[in-house]
Amino acid sequence: MKVIEKIHSLQEGKVVFSFEFFPPKTEDGVDNLFERMDRMVAHNPSFCDITWGAGGSTADLTLDIANKMQNIISVETMMHLTCTNMPVEKIDHALQTIKSNGIQNVLALRGDPPHGQDKFVQVEGGFSCALDLVKHIRSKYGDYFGITVAGYPEAHPDAIGNDGVATPEAYQNDLAYLKRKVDAGADLIVTQLFYDTDIFLKFVNDCRQIGINCPIVPGIMPINNYKGFLRMTGFCKTKIPAEITAALEAIKDNEEAVKAYGVHLGTEMCRKILAHGIKTLHLYTLNMEKSALAILMNLGLIEESKISRSLPWRRPANVFRFKEDVRPIFWSNRPKSYITRTIVWDQFPHGRWGDSRNPSYGALTDHQFMRPRARDKKLQEEWATPLKSIDDIQEKFKSYCLGKLRSSPWSELDSLQPETKIIHEQLGKINLKGFLTINSQPAVNGERSDSPSVGKYKC
Ligand code: FAD
Repeated sequence: MKVIEKIHSLQEGKVVFSFEFFPPKTEDGVDNLFERMDRMVAHNPSFCDITWGAGGSTADLTLDIANKMQNIISVETMMHLTCTNMPVEKIDHALQTIKSNGIQNVLALRGDPPHGQDKFVQVEGGFSCALDLVKHIRSKYGDYFGITVAGYPEAHPDAIGNDGVATPEAYQNDLAYLKRKVDAGADLIVTQLFYDTDIFLKFVNDCRQIGINCPIVPGIMPINNYKGFLRMTGFCKTKIPAEITAALEAIKDNEEAVKAYGVHLGTEMCRKILAHGIKTLHLYTLNMEKSALAILMNLGLIEESKISRSLPWRRPANVFRFKEDVRPIFWSNRPKSYITRTIVWDQFPHGRWGDSRNPSYGALTDHQFMRPRARDKKLQEEWATPLKSIDDIQEKFKSYCLGKLRSSPWSELDSLQPETKIIHEQLGKINLKGFLTINSQPAVNGERSDSPSVGKYKC
């Protein structure tokens, strides 16, 4: 679904929030990011972003992460896309890829120059600015994508002079250009980070004055670390109000105190913004969890104890599959990877288990997401043990069925589901006879669908 549609369908008075992540540098970092995202998404953000590395440096990884966010984590995903080093064929490859993965949201950007260069250079066959990119997306993909663009409450850093502010004329030019991006088809604006809330509120007002009517989502970056804060605000030429400088000066060597202040400041900024009738908040998480969640908790937008979902698995975010609310029972131990594993199957169950010469016969494509499980400590302890005979293998399967092992390479769940207890002894015997089981279903009749043991997971 497009983020703009979600925002427009908001109930009166309801506030929504979103999280932004960036592609980590190492494989372990990527694995851990998915785990973190999974926990954060349990709080129901309206969408999550993944950034496009400077100069297109993370193109493949960003595409891969975006796909998994949409189809494994099952969160509405907005992928950033920049023009730096991107001829139109590469732009289209990225857009086609996310389209085929059921993603409908793009943040269209010009991009910063790659490392080591100080000026943006239009690549041959590419675009010179975000406006061109927005026009291209609308002309080639019609209404399929929801398009977001960047807005700068203090004007784009290039327009900010040595005195730290943009001239009124430069500021007005920047606003006029932002309006052109919206008129060309952008339907949402997410802003650059800021620490002076009055500047943001004035920016919203100025946008409205010149006819920019779409939602303007404030980008909030909690301060996590003093040096990082100075680096980021220096790079973006962000104004830092005197009281923030003074407060940080006193605690800058105490990382915990800086974090706590960052949560306090972020909370107060958001409170003021919400009090002015703005109902959307975008949190630049820098791939960190605690400060963003603490701010949302302080605002009463999330509660640790109230993580709920309407189905036993997270509702699919993929635009082609979001209506699915039934799953084959023998997939119940794959609540996360079900969508991504079946994404390229055009017929079910024919696609995977049928004739391998059939063009719809699919290959497994989620090996990367499985890697963290292969490194799972419990799984290693329980399953990566020396096996001397076939009997040892049978014994291992039997132990799992009897509940003596908690993990299984074939399941994402922690131990067996309660219904398996009904037949676990029979399963143990079957495994000892050499029929190694990885799934089962007890015969039950007339049980209520809210039965805790056999009804809970069926819809
Ligand atoms: P544009 O909208 O093209 O504008 C850049 C500047 O040029 C503005 O000052 C604008 O006024 C001026 N300008 C451009 N064309 C015209 C024109 N025809 N007429 C008049 N003025 C013009 N960078 C990344 O590399 N990856 C990311 O994932 C990423 N995510 C971001 C997310 C957000 C919310 C924001 C605010 C920034 C992000 N950036 C990212 C940084 C962004 O790429 C840089 O700020 C970049 O310098 C400008 O991108 P833009 O899309 O705002 O550019």
